[in-house]
Amino acid sequence: MSRNAESTAFRSALEVVRGVEPRVADAIAAELADQRESLKLIASENYASPATLLAMGNWFSDKYAEGTVGRRFYAGCQNVDTVEALAAEHARELFGASHAYVQPHSGIDANLVAFWAILADRVESPALRKAQARQVNDLTEADWFALRRELGNQRMLGMSLDAGGHLTHGFRPNISGKMFDQRSYGTDPATGLIDYDRVDEAAREFKPLILVAGYSAYPRKVNFRIMREIADSVGATFMVDMAHFAGLVAGKVFTGDFDPVPHAHIVTTTTHKSLRGPRGGMVLCGPELADQVDRGCPMVLGGPLPHVMAAKAVALAEARRPDFADYAQRIVDNAQALADGLLRRGATLVTGGTDNHLVLIDVSGYGLTGRQAEQALLDSGIVTNRNSVPQDPNGAWYTSGIRIGTPALTTRGLGAAEMDATAELIHTVLSQTTPGTGPDGAPSKAKYVLDPAVAESVGKQAADLLTPFPLYPSVDLA
Ligand SMILES: *Cc1c(COP(=O)(O)O)cnc(C)c1O
Repeated sequence: MSRNAESTAFRSALEVVRGVEPRVADAIAAELADQRESLKLIASENYASPATLLAMGNWFSDKYAEGTVGRRFYAGCQNVDTVEALAAEHARELFGASHAYVQPHSGIDANLVAFWAILADRVESPALRKAQARQVNDLTEADWFALRRELGNQRMLGMSLDAGGHLTHGFRPNISGKMFDQRSYGTDPATGLIDYDRVDEAAREFKPLILVAGYSAYPRKVNFRIMREIADSVGATFMVDMAHFAGLVAGKVFTGDFDPVPHAHIVTTTTHKSLRGPRGGMVLCGPELADQVDRGCPMVLGGPLPHVMAAKAVALAEARRPDFADYAQRIVDNAQALADGLLRRGATLVTGGTDNHLVLIDVSGYGLTGRQAEQALLDSGIVTNRNSVPQDPNGAWYTSGIRIGTPALTTRGLGAAEMDATAELIHTVLSQTTPGTGPDGAPSKAKYVLDPAVAESVGKQAADLLTPFPLYPSVDLA
C-alpha cells in the first residue's frame, strides 16, 4: 500500500469535513500537529496505525447491533457480524482465549461487563436464578428486592489505588466502589513490590467473591499463577484487568506465570493503550462465563460501536504479526533504558526500576509534588502525568509521583539512546524546578519556579530528539 494512499485518504476526509464545519477539520489537523511535536510519555497512550484509524470513519457508525453475532435485536446486521466475528477471532488467537467479547466501548465498560458476568454466575440467590432462567413472572416484589440487595454488597479484593490499582477495582469515585464491599492489598513498603503472602492473608480474612489483579501504575510484572492459587484457596473468581499491559501479553513479553489469560477466570482490557488499537475495551474468558459476558449489551452497555469493532479487527490483525512481538519487547527495553538513565542521574524510582512499560518517579526526591513536576515538564515540552506513589503523603490530587511510559515513543521508533537523552531532559527540569509559594507566602503544592530559559532549552532538545522519528510519516496533510 502506498504512502500516497494514506495521505490522500486523510486529506480527502478533512476536505469533506471542512465543507461542513471547518473548525472541526482544523482541530483534527491541529491535533496531528500537536501529537507530532510532543514528547509523549503518557503510559496509557499510543498511536494507532492509519489502517486502524481509517477503519473507524464509515457507515458502520450508522448501524444498531444490540445483542451478539447471530443473536441480534436488530435486523440487517450481517456485515457487523462479519467484523465483530473477525475481531473476536483475532483476539482469541492472539491471546489464546476460548472466548472474546469485543463490544465494550472502553476499559471501564469492559470491567462492568465482567462484574455483571461474575455476579450473575456466582451470587447465591434463588431470585437471581429464576430471573436468569427467564422465569421473571414467578418473581414477587420481595424477590426483586432481595435480588437487588444480594447483587450489591458483594466482596471484592483489589490492588490499592496508591499502589497502582485502578478506580474501577472497587474505589469510591467509580460505581464499583458503591456496588462492592471492597478491600485492597498494597505493596511492601520496603520494596514497593506486591507481597503475595499479604494478599493471601487478606483473601483468607475477607473471603472476596472477586479477586482482582491489574494496575495502571505498578512498574512490575504480576505473578498471576500465585494470584490464581490464592483465589482458588478462598473460592474467589480471579479477574485480571490488563488494560495497561495487554500489548506486552499480545507481544509475548509476559508469558508463563505472567500471562494472565491461562490463569484468570476472566480478563478485561482496553484496546488503545499498549495494544495500540482504537479507543475501546474487550473481555476474554473461558466457556463458563461466556454466556453472561455476551449479555454485556444491553445489560450494561449501550449499542455496540460497529465502526470501532472494525478497527479492533484491524488492530488485532496487526498485533498478530511477528513485528508486534518485536515492538512489545522494545517497549520494555526502552522503559528499562529510561529507568536506568534516571537512576544514574539520582532519581528515586518506585520499586527501583521497571519490568514493564512504565516507570514511576518519586519526585519528593526533587523536593516537588507530582503536580509541580507534571507542569514544569509540560512547560518544557515533555508530556507526562502525575500519579500517587505508595502511601503518598500528598494525596491523589497533588501526588508525589510522575508516571512515564514508553508505548507511544516506541511506536515512533525511539530507542535506548533517545531514552537516555529523555532521562537527562527529565532530570534537568526536575532538578531545576523549585516549589513556589502561595499568596500568603506559605509553601504551595501547586506553584513552582522554573527558569523559562531552561524550559525553552529543554523543549528545543525534546523537539530535536523527535525529528529523526516522524509520527505518521505516511501522512502528509499539506
Ligand atoms: C485505563 C484503565 C481502565 C479504563 O479504561 P477506559 O478506556 O479509560 O475506560 C481500566 N482499568 C485499568 C487498569 C486501566 O489502566
